[in-house]
Amino acid sequence: MTAMQQKILTATRYQSSPEELIQDTLNLKEGLITSTGALAIHTGEFTGRSPQDKFIVKDDVTENTVHWNNFNIPIGEKCFRIIYRKIMDHLNAKPQVWVRDAFACADPRYRLSVRITTEKPWTNLFAYNMFLRPTEAELKEFTPEWQVISAPDLKLNAEECGIRQHNAAVISFKHKMILIAGSGYTGETKKGIFTVLNYILPQDRGVLSMHCSANAGEDGNTAIFFGLSGTGKTTLSADPSRRLIGDDEHGWAGDNIFNFEGGCYAKLINLSEEKEPAIFGAIRAGAIVENVQFFPGTTRINFDDASITENTRVSYPLHFISNALEPSVGNIPKNIFFLTCDAYGVLPPISKLSKEQAMYQFISGYTAKVSGTETGVTEPKPTFSACFGAPFLPLHPGKYAKLLGEKMEKHEVNVWLVNTGWTGGPYGIGHRMKLSYTRAMITAAIGGKLNTVAFTKDPVFGFGIPNEVPNVPSEVLIPRNTWSDKDAYDEKVKFLAALFVKNFEKYAAGVSEEVLKVAPNVIAFLTEM
Ligand code: ATP
Ligand code: MN
Repeated sequence: MTAMQQKILTATRYQSSPEELIQDTLNLKEGLITSTGALAIHTGEFTGRSPQDKFIVKDDVTENTVHWNNFNIPIGEKCFRIIYRKIMDHLNAKPQVWVRDAFACADPRYRLSVRITTEKPWTNLFAYNMFLRPTEAELKEFTPEWQVISAPDLKLNAEECGIRQHNAAVISFKHKMILIAGSGYTGETKKGIFTVLNYILPQDRGVLSMHCSANAGEDGNTAIFFGLSGTGKTTLSADPSRRLIGDDEHGWAGDNIFNFEGGCYAKLINLSEEKEPAIFGAIRAGAIVENVQFFPGTTRINFDDASITENTRVSYPLHFISNALEPSVGNIPKNIFFLTCDAYGVLPPISKLSKEQAMYQFISGYTAKVSGTETGVTEPKPTFSACFGAPFLPLHPGKYAKLLGEKMEKHEVNVWLVNTGWTGGPYGIGHRMKLSYTRAMITAAIGGKLNTVAFTKDPVFGFGIPNEVPNVPSEVLIPRNTWSDKDAYDEKVKFLAALFVKNFEKYAAGVSEEVLKVAPNVIAFLTEM
C-alpha cells in the first residue's frame, strides 16, 4: 500500500453539528462555556502561525512555479510521505477523529471542495465556522478535491522528517493535501487553504487573490481593505452601516469580488463592546474563543489579559454579524484601502494615492508593529511584506501586483493609504489613532466626501492628504503638525523613507519607470525646508 492510499481506520465523526462538537470538546475537558455562551479553548504550544515551519513540497508541479523564499520553504516528497504516514498512525491510534466537508470561495465558479480531518473536535468546529458550509444537497454530490489533516498532539522527529523542529505545516500541490502536525493553532488550517488559493486562482483562473477584507454599501458600492496582521481589516470591515462581505481573504474576478471563507477570525485583545459592537456581539454560542483568561472565579472574558498571548481570537460564522452579505459576493470595488499600522507615527492617517503610488505601496506592503518584549523595550519593528501578505503567497509577488495593476487600469478605482497606527509621535510618545476617527475617514472617502476638498502633498511620500475630513479634527490629518518635536519628526520621516527605498531595491528591475519615480523623496523634502 503506498502512503497516499492509507486510510483512516479509526472511528470517524462525519459532519458533526456545532452542538455535538462543543459537547465533544467539553467531554474531553478541553474547553469551557463562557458567560456569553461561546466555547473557550486553548490552542496549546502555538497561539499563532509558525511561518518558519511551513513547507511546500518541491516536485515537478511546484519546482518552477513557486517563488521559493523564507515563506515558501521547500521540502522533499520523501519527507512529505514520512510525515503523512506519521499523521495516519497517530490518528489511527485515537479513539476517534472528526471529518468535515466544506467549500472555499463564495463564487460557485471558483469553488474548492475541501475535506478537513482533525484530531480535535474544536479544530473541526473552527472549520465549520470558517469555511463555507455545504447544504444537504451539495453534500450528496461532494467530492473532496483538497484535504487538510490536523494533528496538534503529534510531535515529529525533526531529523527524520526533514523539518526544523517538532511541528510542521506541509502543502503538497501534487497530492492536494495540507498536513499540520504539532500545532493546534486553528488559523494554520485556514491560512493553508488561503495559500493554496493564492497559487491556483491567479495562475489557472486569472483571478487576483487578496489578503483583504471587504464590505458593500446598500447601493452595492464595494470597498476592500488590504493590510497585514493587526492593521484593522477585521475591525474596519465590520461597519454597521455597510454589509460585510468578508474579513480576510477575497478573490477579484473579471466581474466581481468574492469571499473565500464563510466566517471571521477576529482579535480579542482590548476588545470593547462600545468601540466594536458587531464583533463583541458575535461572541456567543457557536463561536470559539482562543487563549483568553477570565476574571477570577467567573467565566467572563478579560479582554485586556494578554498573559497567554496578545493574539487572543474568536472565530464565528459570517452570519453572526447581523448585516453580513451572503452569498458573499460583491461588485468590483470603487475604493481600495491599504491599511498600515505605522508605530513610528510618520504616515498620514488618510491619503490618496496615484496609480503608481498604489503599485509602489502594494509591492512594499509596509506596517510597523510594536514588539512587546518582556523587558519592556518597545521599539517599533518595521515589516515590508509584499502585497500585504507575503507569508501566504506561493507565486512571485510581481504576479499579484501585475494583476492588481491591470484591474486598476481597467476600472475607475480610488486608492487610499490609511494609517491606523500612531499619531502625535512614535510609540511611547504619541498614541494610536482613535478608531472613531479612522472610521470617519473611511466613511468620508467611500461617501465621496473627499472628492471636493483640497489636498496637501506630503513632501516626502507625495501622497495627497485631504485638508479636511467630516467628523475628524483637521489637526490630526498632517502628522508633522501632531508632533511637538518637529526635528524628531523630520528625522523619523527620513528614516522611514530610507527603509522604503532600501526594501524596494529588490523589485526595481521588475517595475515600470513611472512606479520607480514615486519612491519617497528625501532630497526634495530637505530642500523644501
Ligand atoms: P489579522 O490579519 O491578523 O486578522 P486584522 O488586519 O484583521 O489582522 P484587526 O483584527 O482588525 O486586524 O486588528 C486591529 C486592532 O487594532 C483591533 O484590536 C482594533 O481594536 C485596534 N485598533 C485601535 N485603533 C484602531 C484604528 N484607528 N483603526 C483600526 N484598528 C484599531
Ligand atoms: Mn482579521
